Amino acid sequence: MGYIFFLGTDHEKINLYFPEMHDPSMEIIRVKWMPLHIPLKKPFKIALGTTTNYSGYILKICTARVCGYGEAVPSPKITGDTMESIEKAFRIFKPLLLGEEAHKIGWIMNKIYRAIPNNTAAKAAVDMALYDLVGSYWRVRVSDILGGEKEKVDTSVTIGITSIEDAVKQAIELTNLGARVLKVKIGLNPDEDIKRIKEIRNVTDARIRIDANQGYSLNQAIRVLKSIEKYNIEFAEQPLPKDRIDDLKTLRESVGVPIIADESVHNAKDVLKLIGKVDGINIKLMKSGGIYEALKMASIAKAAEMKIMVGCMVETKLGIAAGQNFALGIGADYADLDGYMDITRQPFIGLEFKDGGNIVEGERGLGVECRNISIC
Ligand SMILES: [Mg+2]
Repeated sequence: MGYIFFLGTDHEKINLYFPEMHDPSMEIIRVKWMPLHIPLKKPFKIALGTTTNYSGYILKICTARVCGYGEAVPSPKITGDTMESIEKAFRIFKPLLLGEEAHKIGWIMNKIYRAIPNNTAAKAAVDMALYDLVGSYWRVRVSDILGGEKEKVDTSVTIGITSIEDAVKQAIELTNLGARVLKVKIGLNPDEDIKRIKEIRNVTDARIRIDANQGYSLNQAIRVLKSIEKYNIEFAEQPLPKDRIDDLKTLRESVGVPIIADESVHNAKDVLKLIGKVDGINIKLMKSGGIYEALKMASIAKAAEMKIMVGCMVETKLGIAAGQNFALGIGADYADLDGYMDITRQPFIGLEFKDGGNIVEGERGLGVECRNISIC
């Protein structure tokens, strides 16, 4: 019976038409969260800055019978969320969640979206926890609730900005570990970047995608992409500053490498602005505020014949599992879901890298299990 709510039922009148549908066993009775800090295996450098630690929040939402987990990871330069703002947002969300029926995800998320602007990482944690809870209760994978379009999708594994020598070494290691797609971070030095891609292409047959994280000017981007076209580049992610939408279109028309927007696209409204300007979009749940909004983004992108990539921040296997379930559910073209590989401890288990892609082991909800942290 609850399926009707996944179709976007967010209207109060539904209870007039289906008065018998109130399900007391789905009532949210507990909302808890905890901060989490985990060192990275090595510093992760991109054109926007360098990270050495994972910090985030795990959120737990429970009914009397079952609980679901969600994750919020702050990216101050991308979404504006900080650890402090996530904690404050959760305090605002908690009374809005208590007493609601967990399966009315559209109804609940609209309340959450209306309560405060921005804070998309905190909103994503609520959304993920609800999908996890409902999937666990119904004994079904979230990917199947969302459409079950695919069974598997390759994920890229990222090489951060480092010396060319080290980047080449990592490319060899990752290819040997079974990575079929490498995502190479660039964007700080055009000449070095051209050389970097050439050298990496020399040592691997893996698919190569690149990500400049807004690092280039239009002229630099044209020069770099034209120089590396011959190395068979799958696509280039966000070569230009996020607000240069018309320049993205000029770039797309000037080079032979497909262009994917990342920092330029957070939500469904942003996708509308990019139609005809880029070849595809990178959907991240931390940017969209969760799966519910991401579904709208995917619908618009599909109708506009844009490619869909599902990406991530540095996240635990929980956030990555949510991205993976979403990517499989909607049949995403590309996945970049490697964020958990960088952290030194795994507070969630049940997701592994195998044959070029992530495999989610659990059969219910998001399919991962909480381990060894106090909130479990
Ligand atoms: Mg990116």
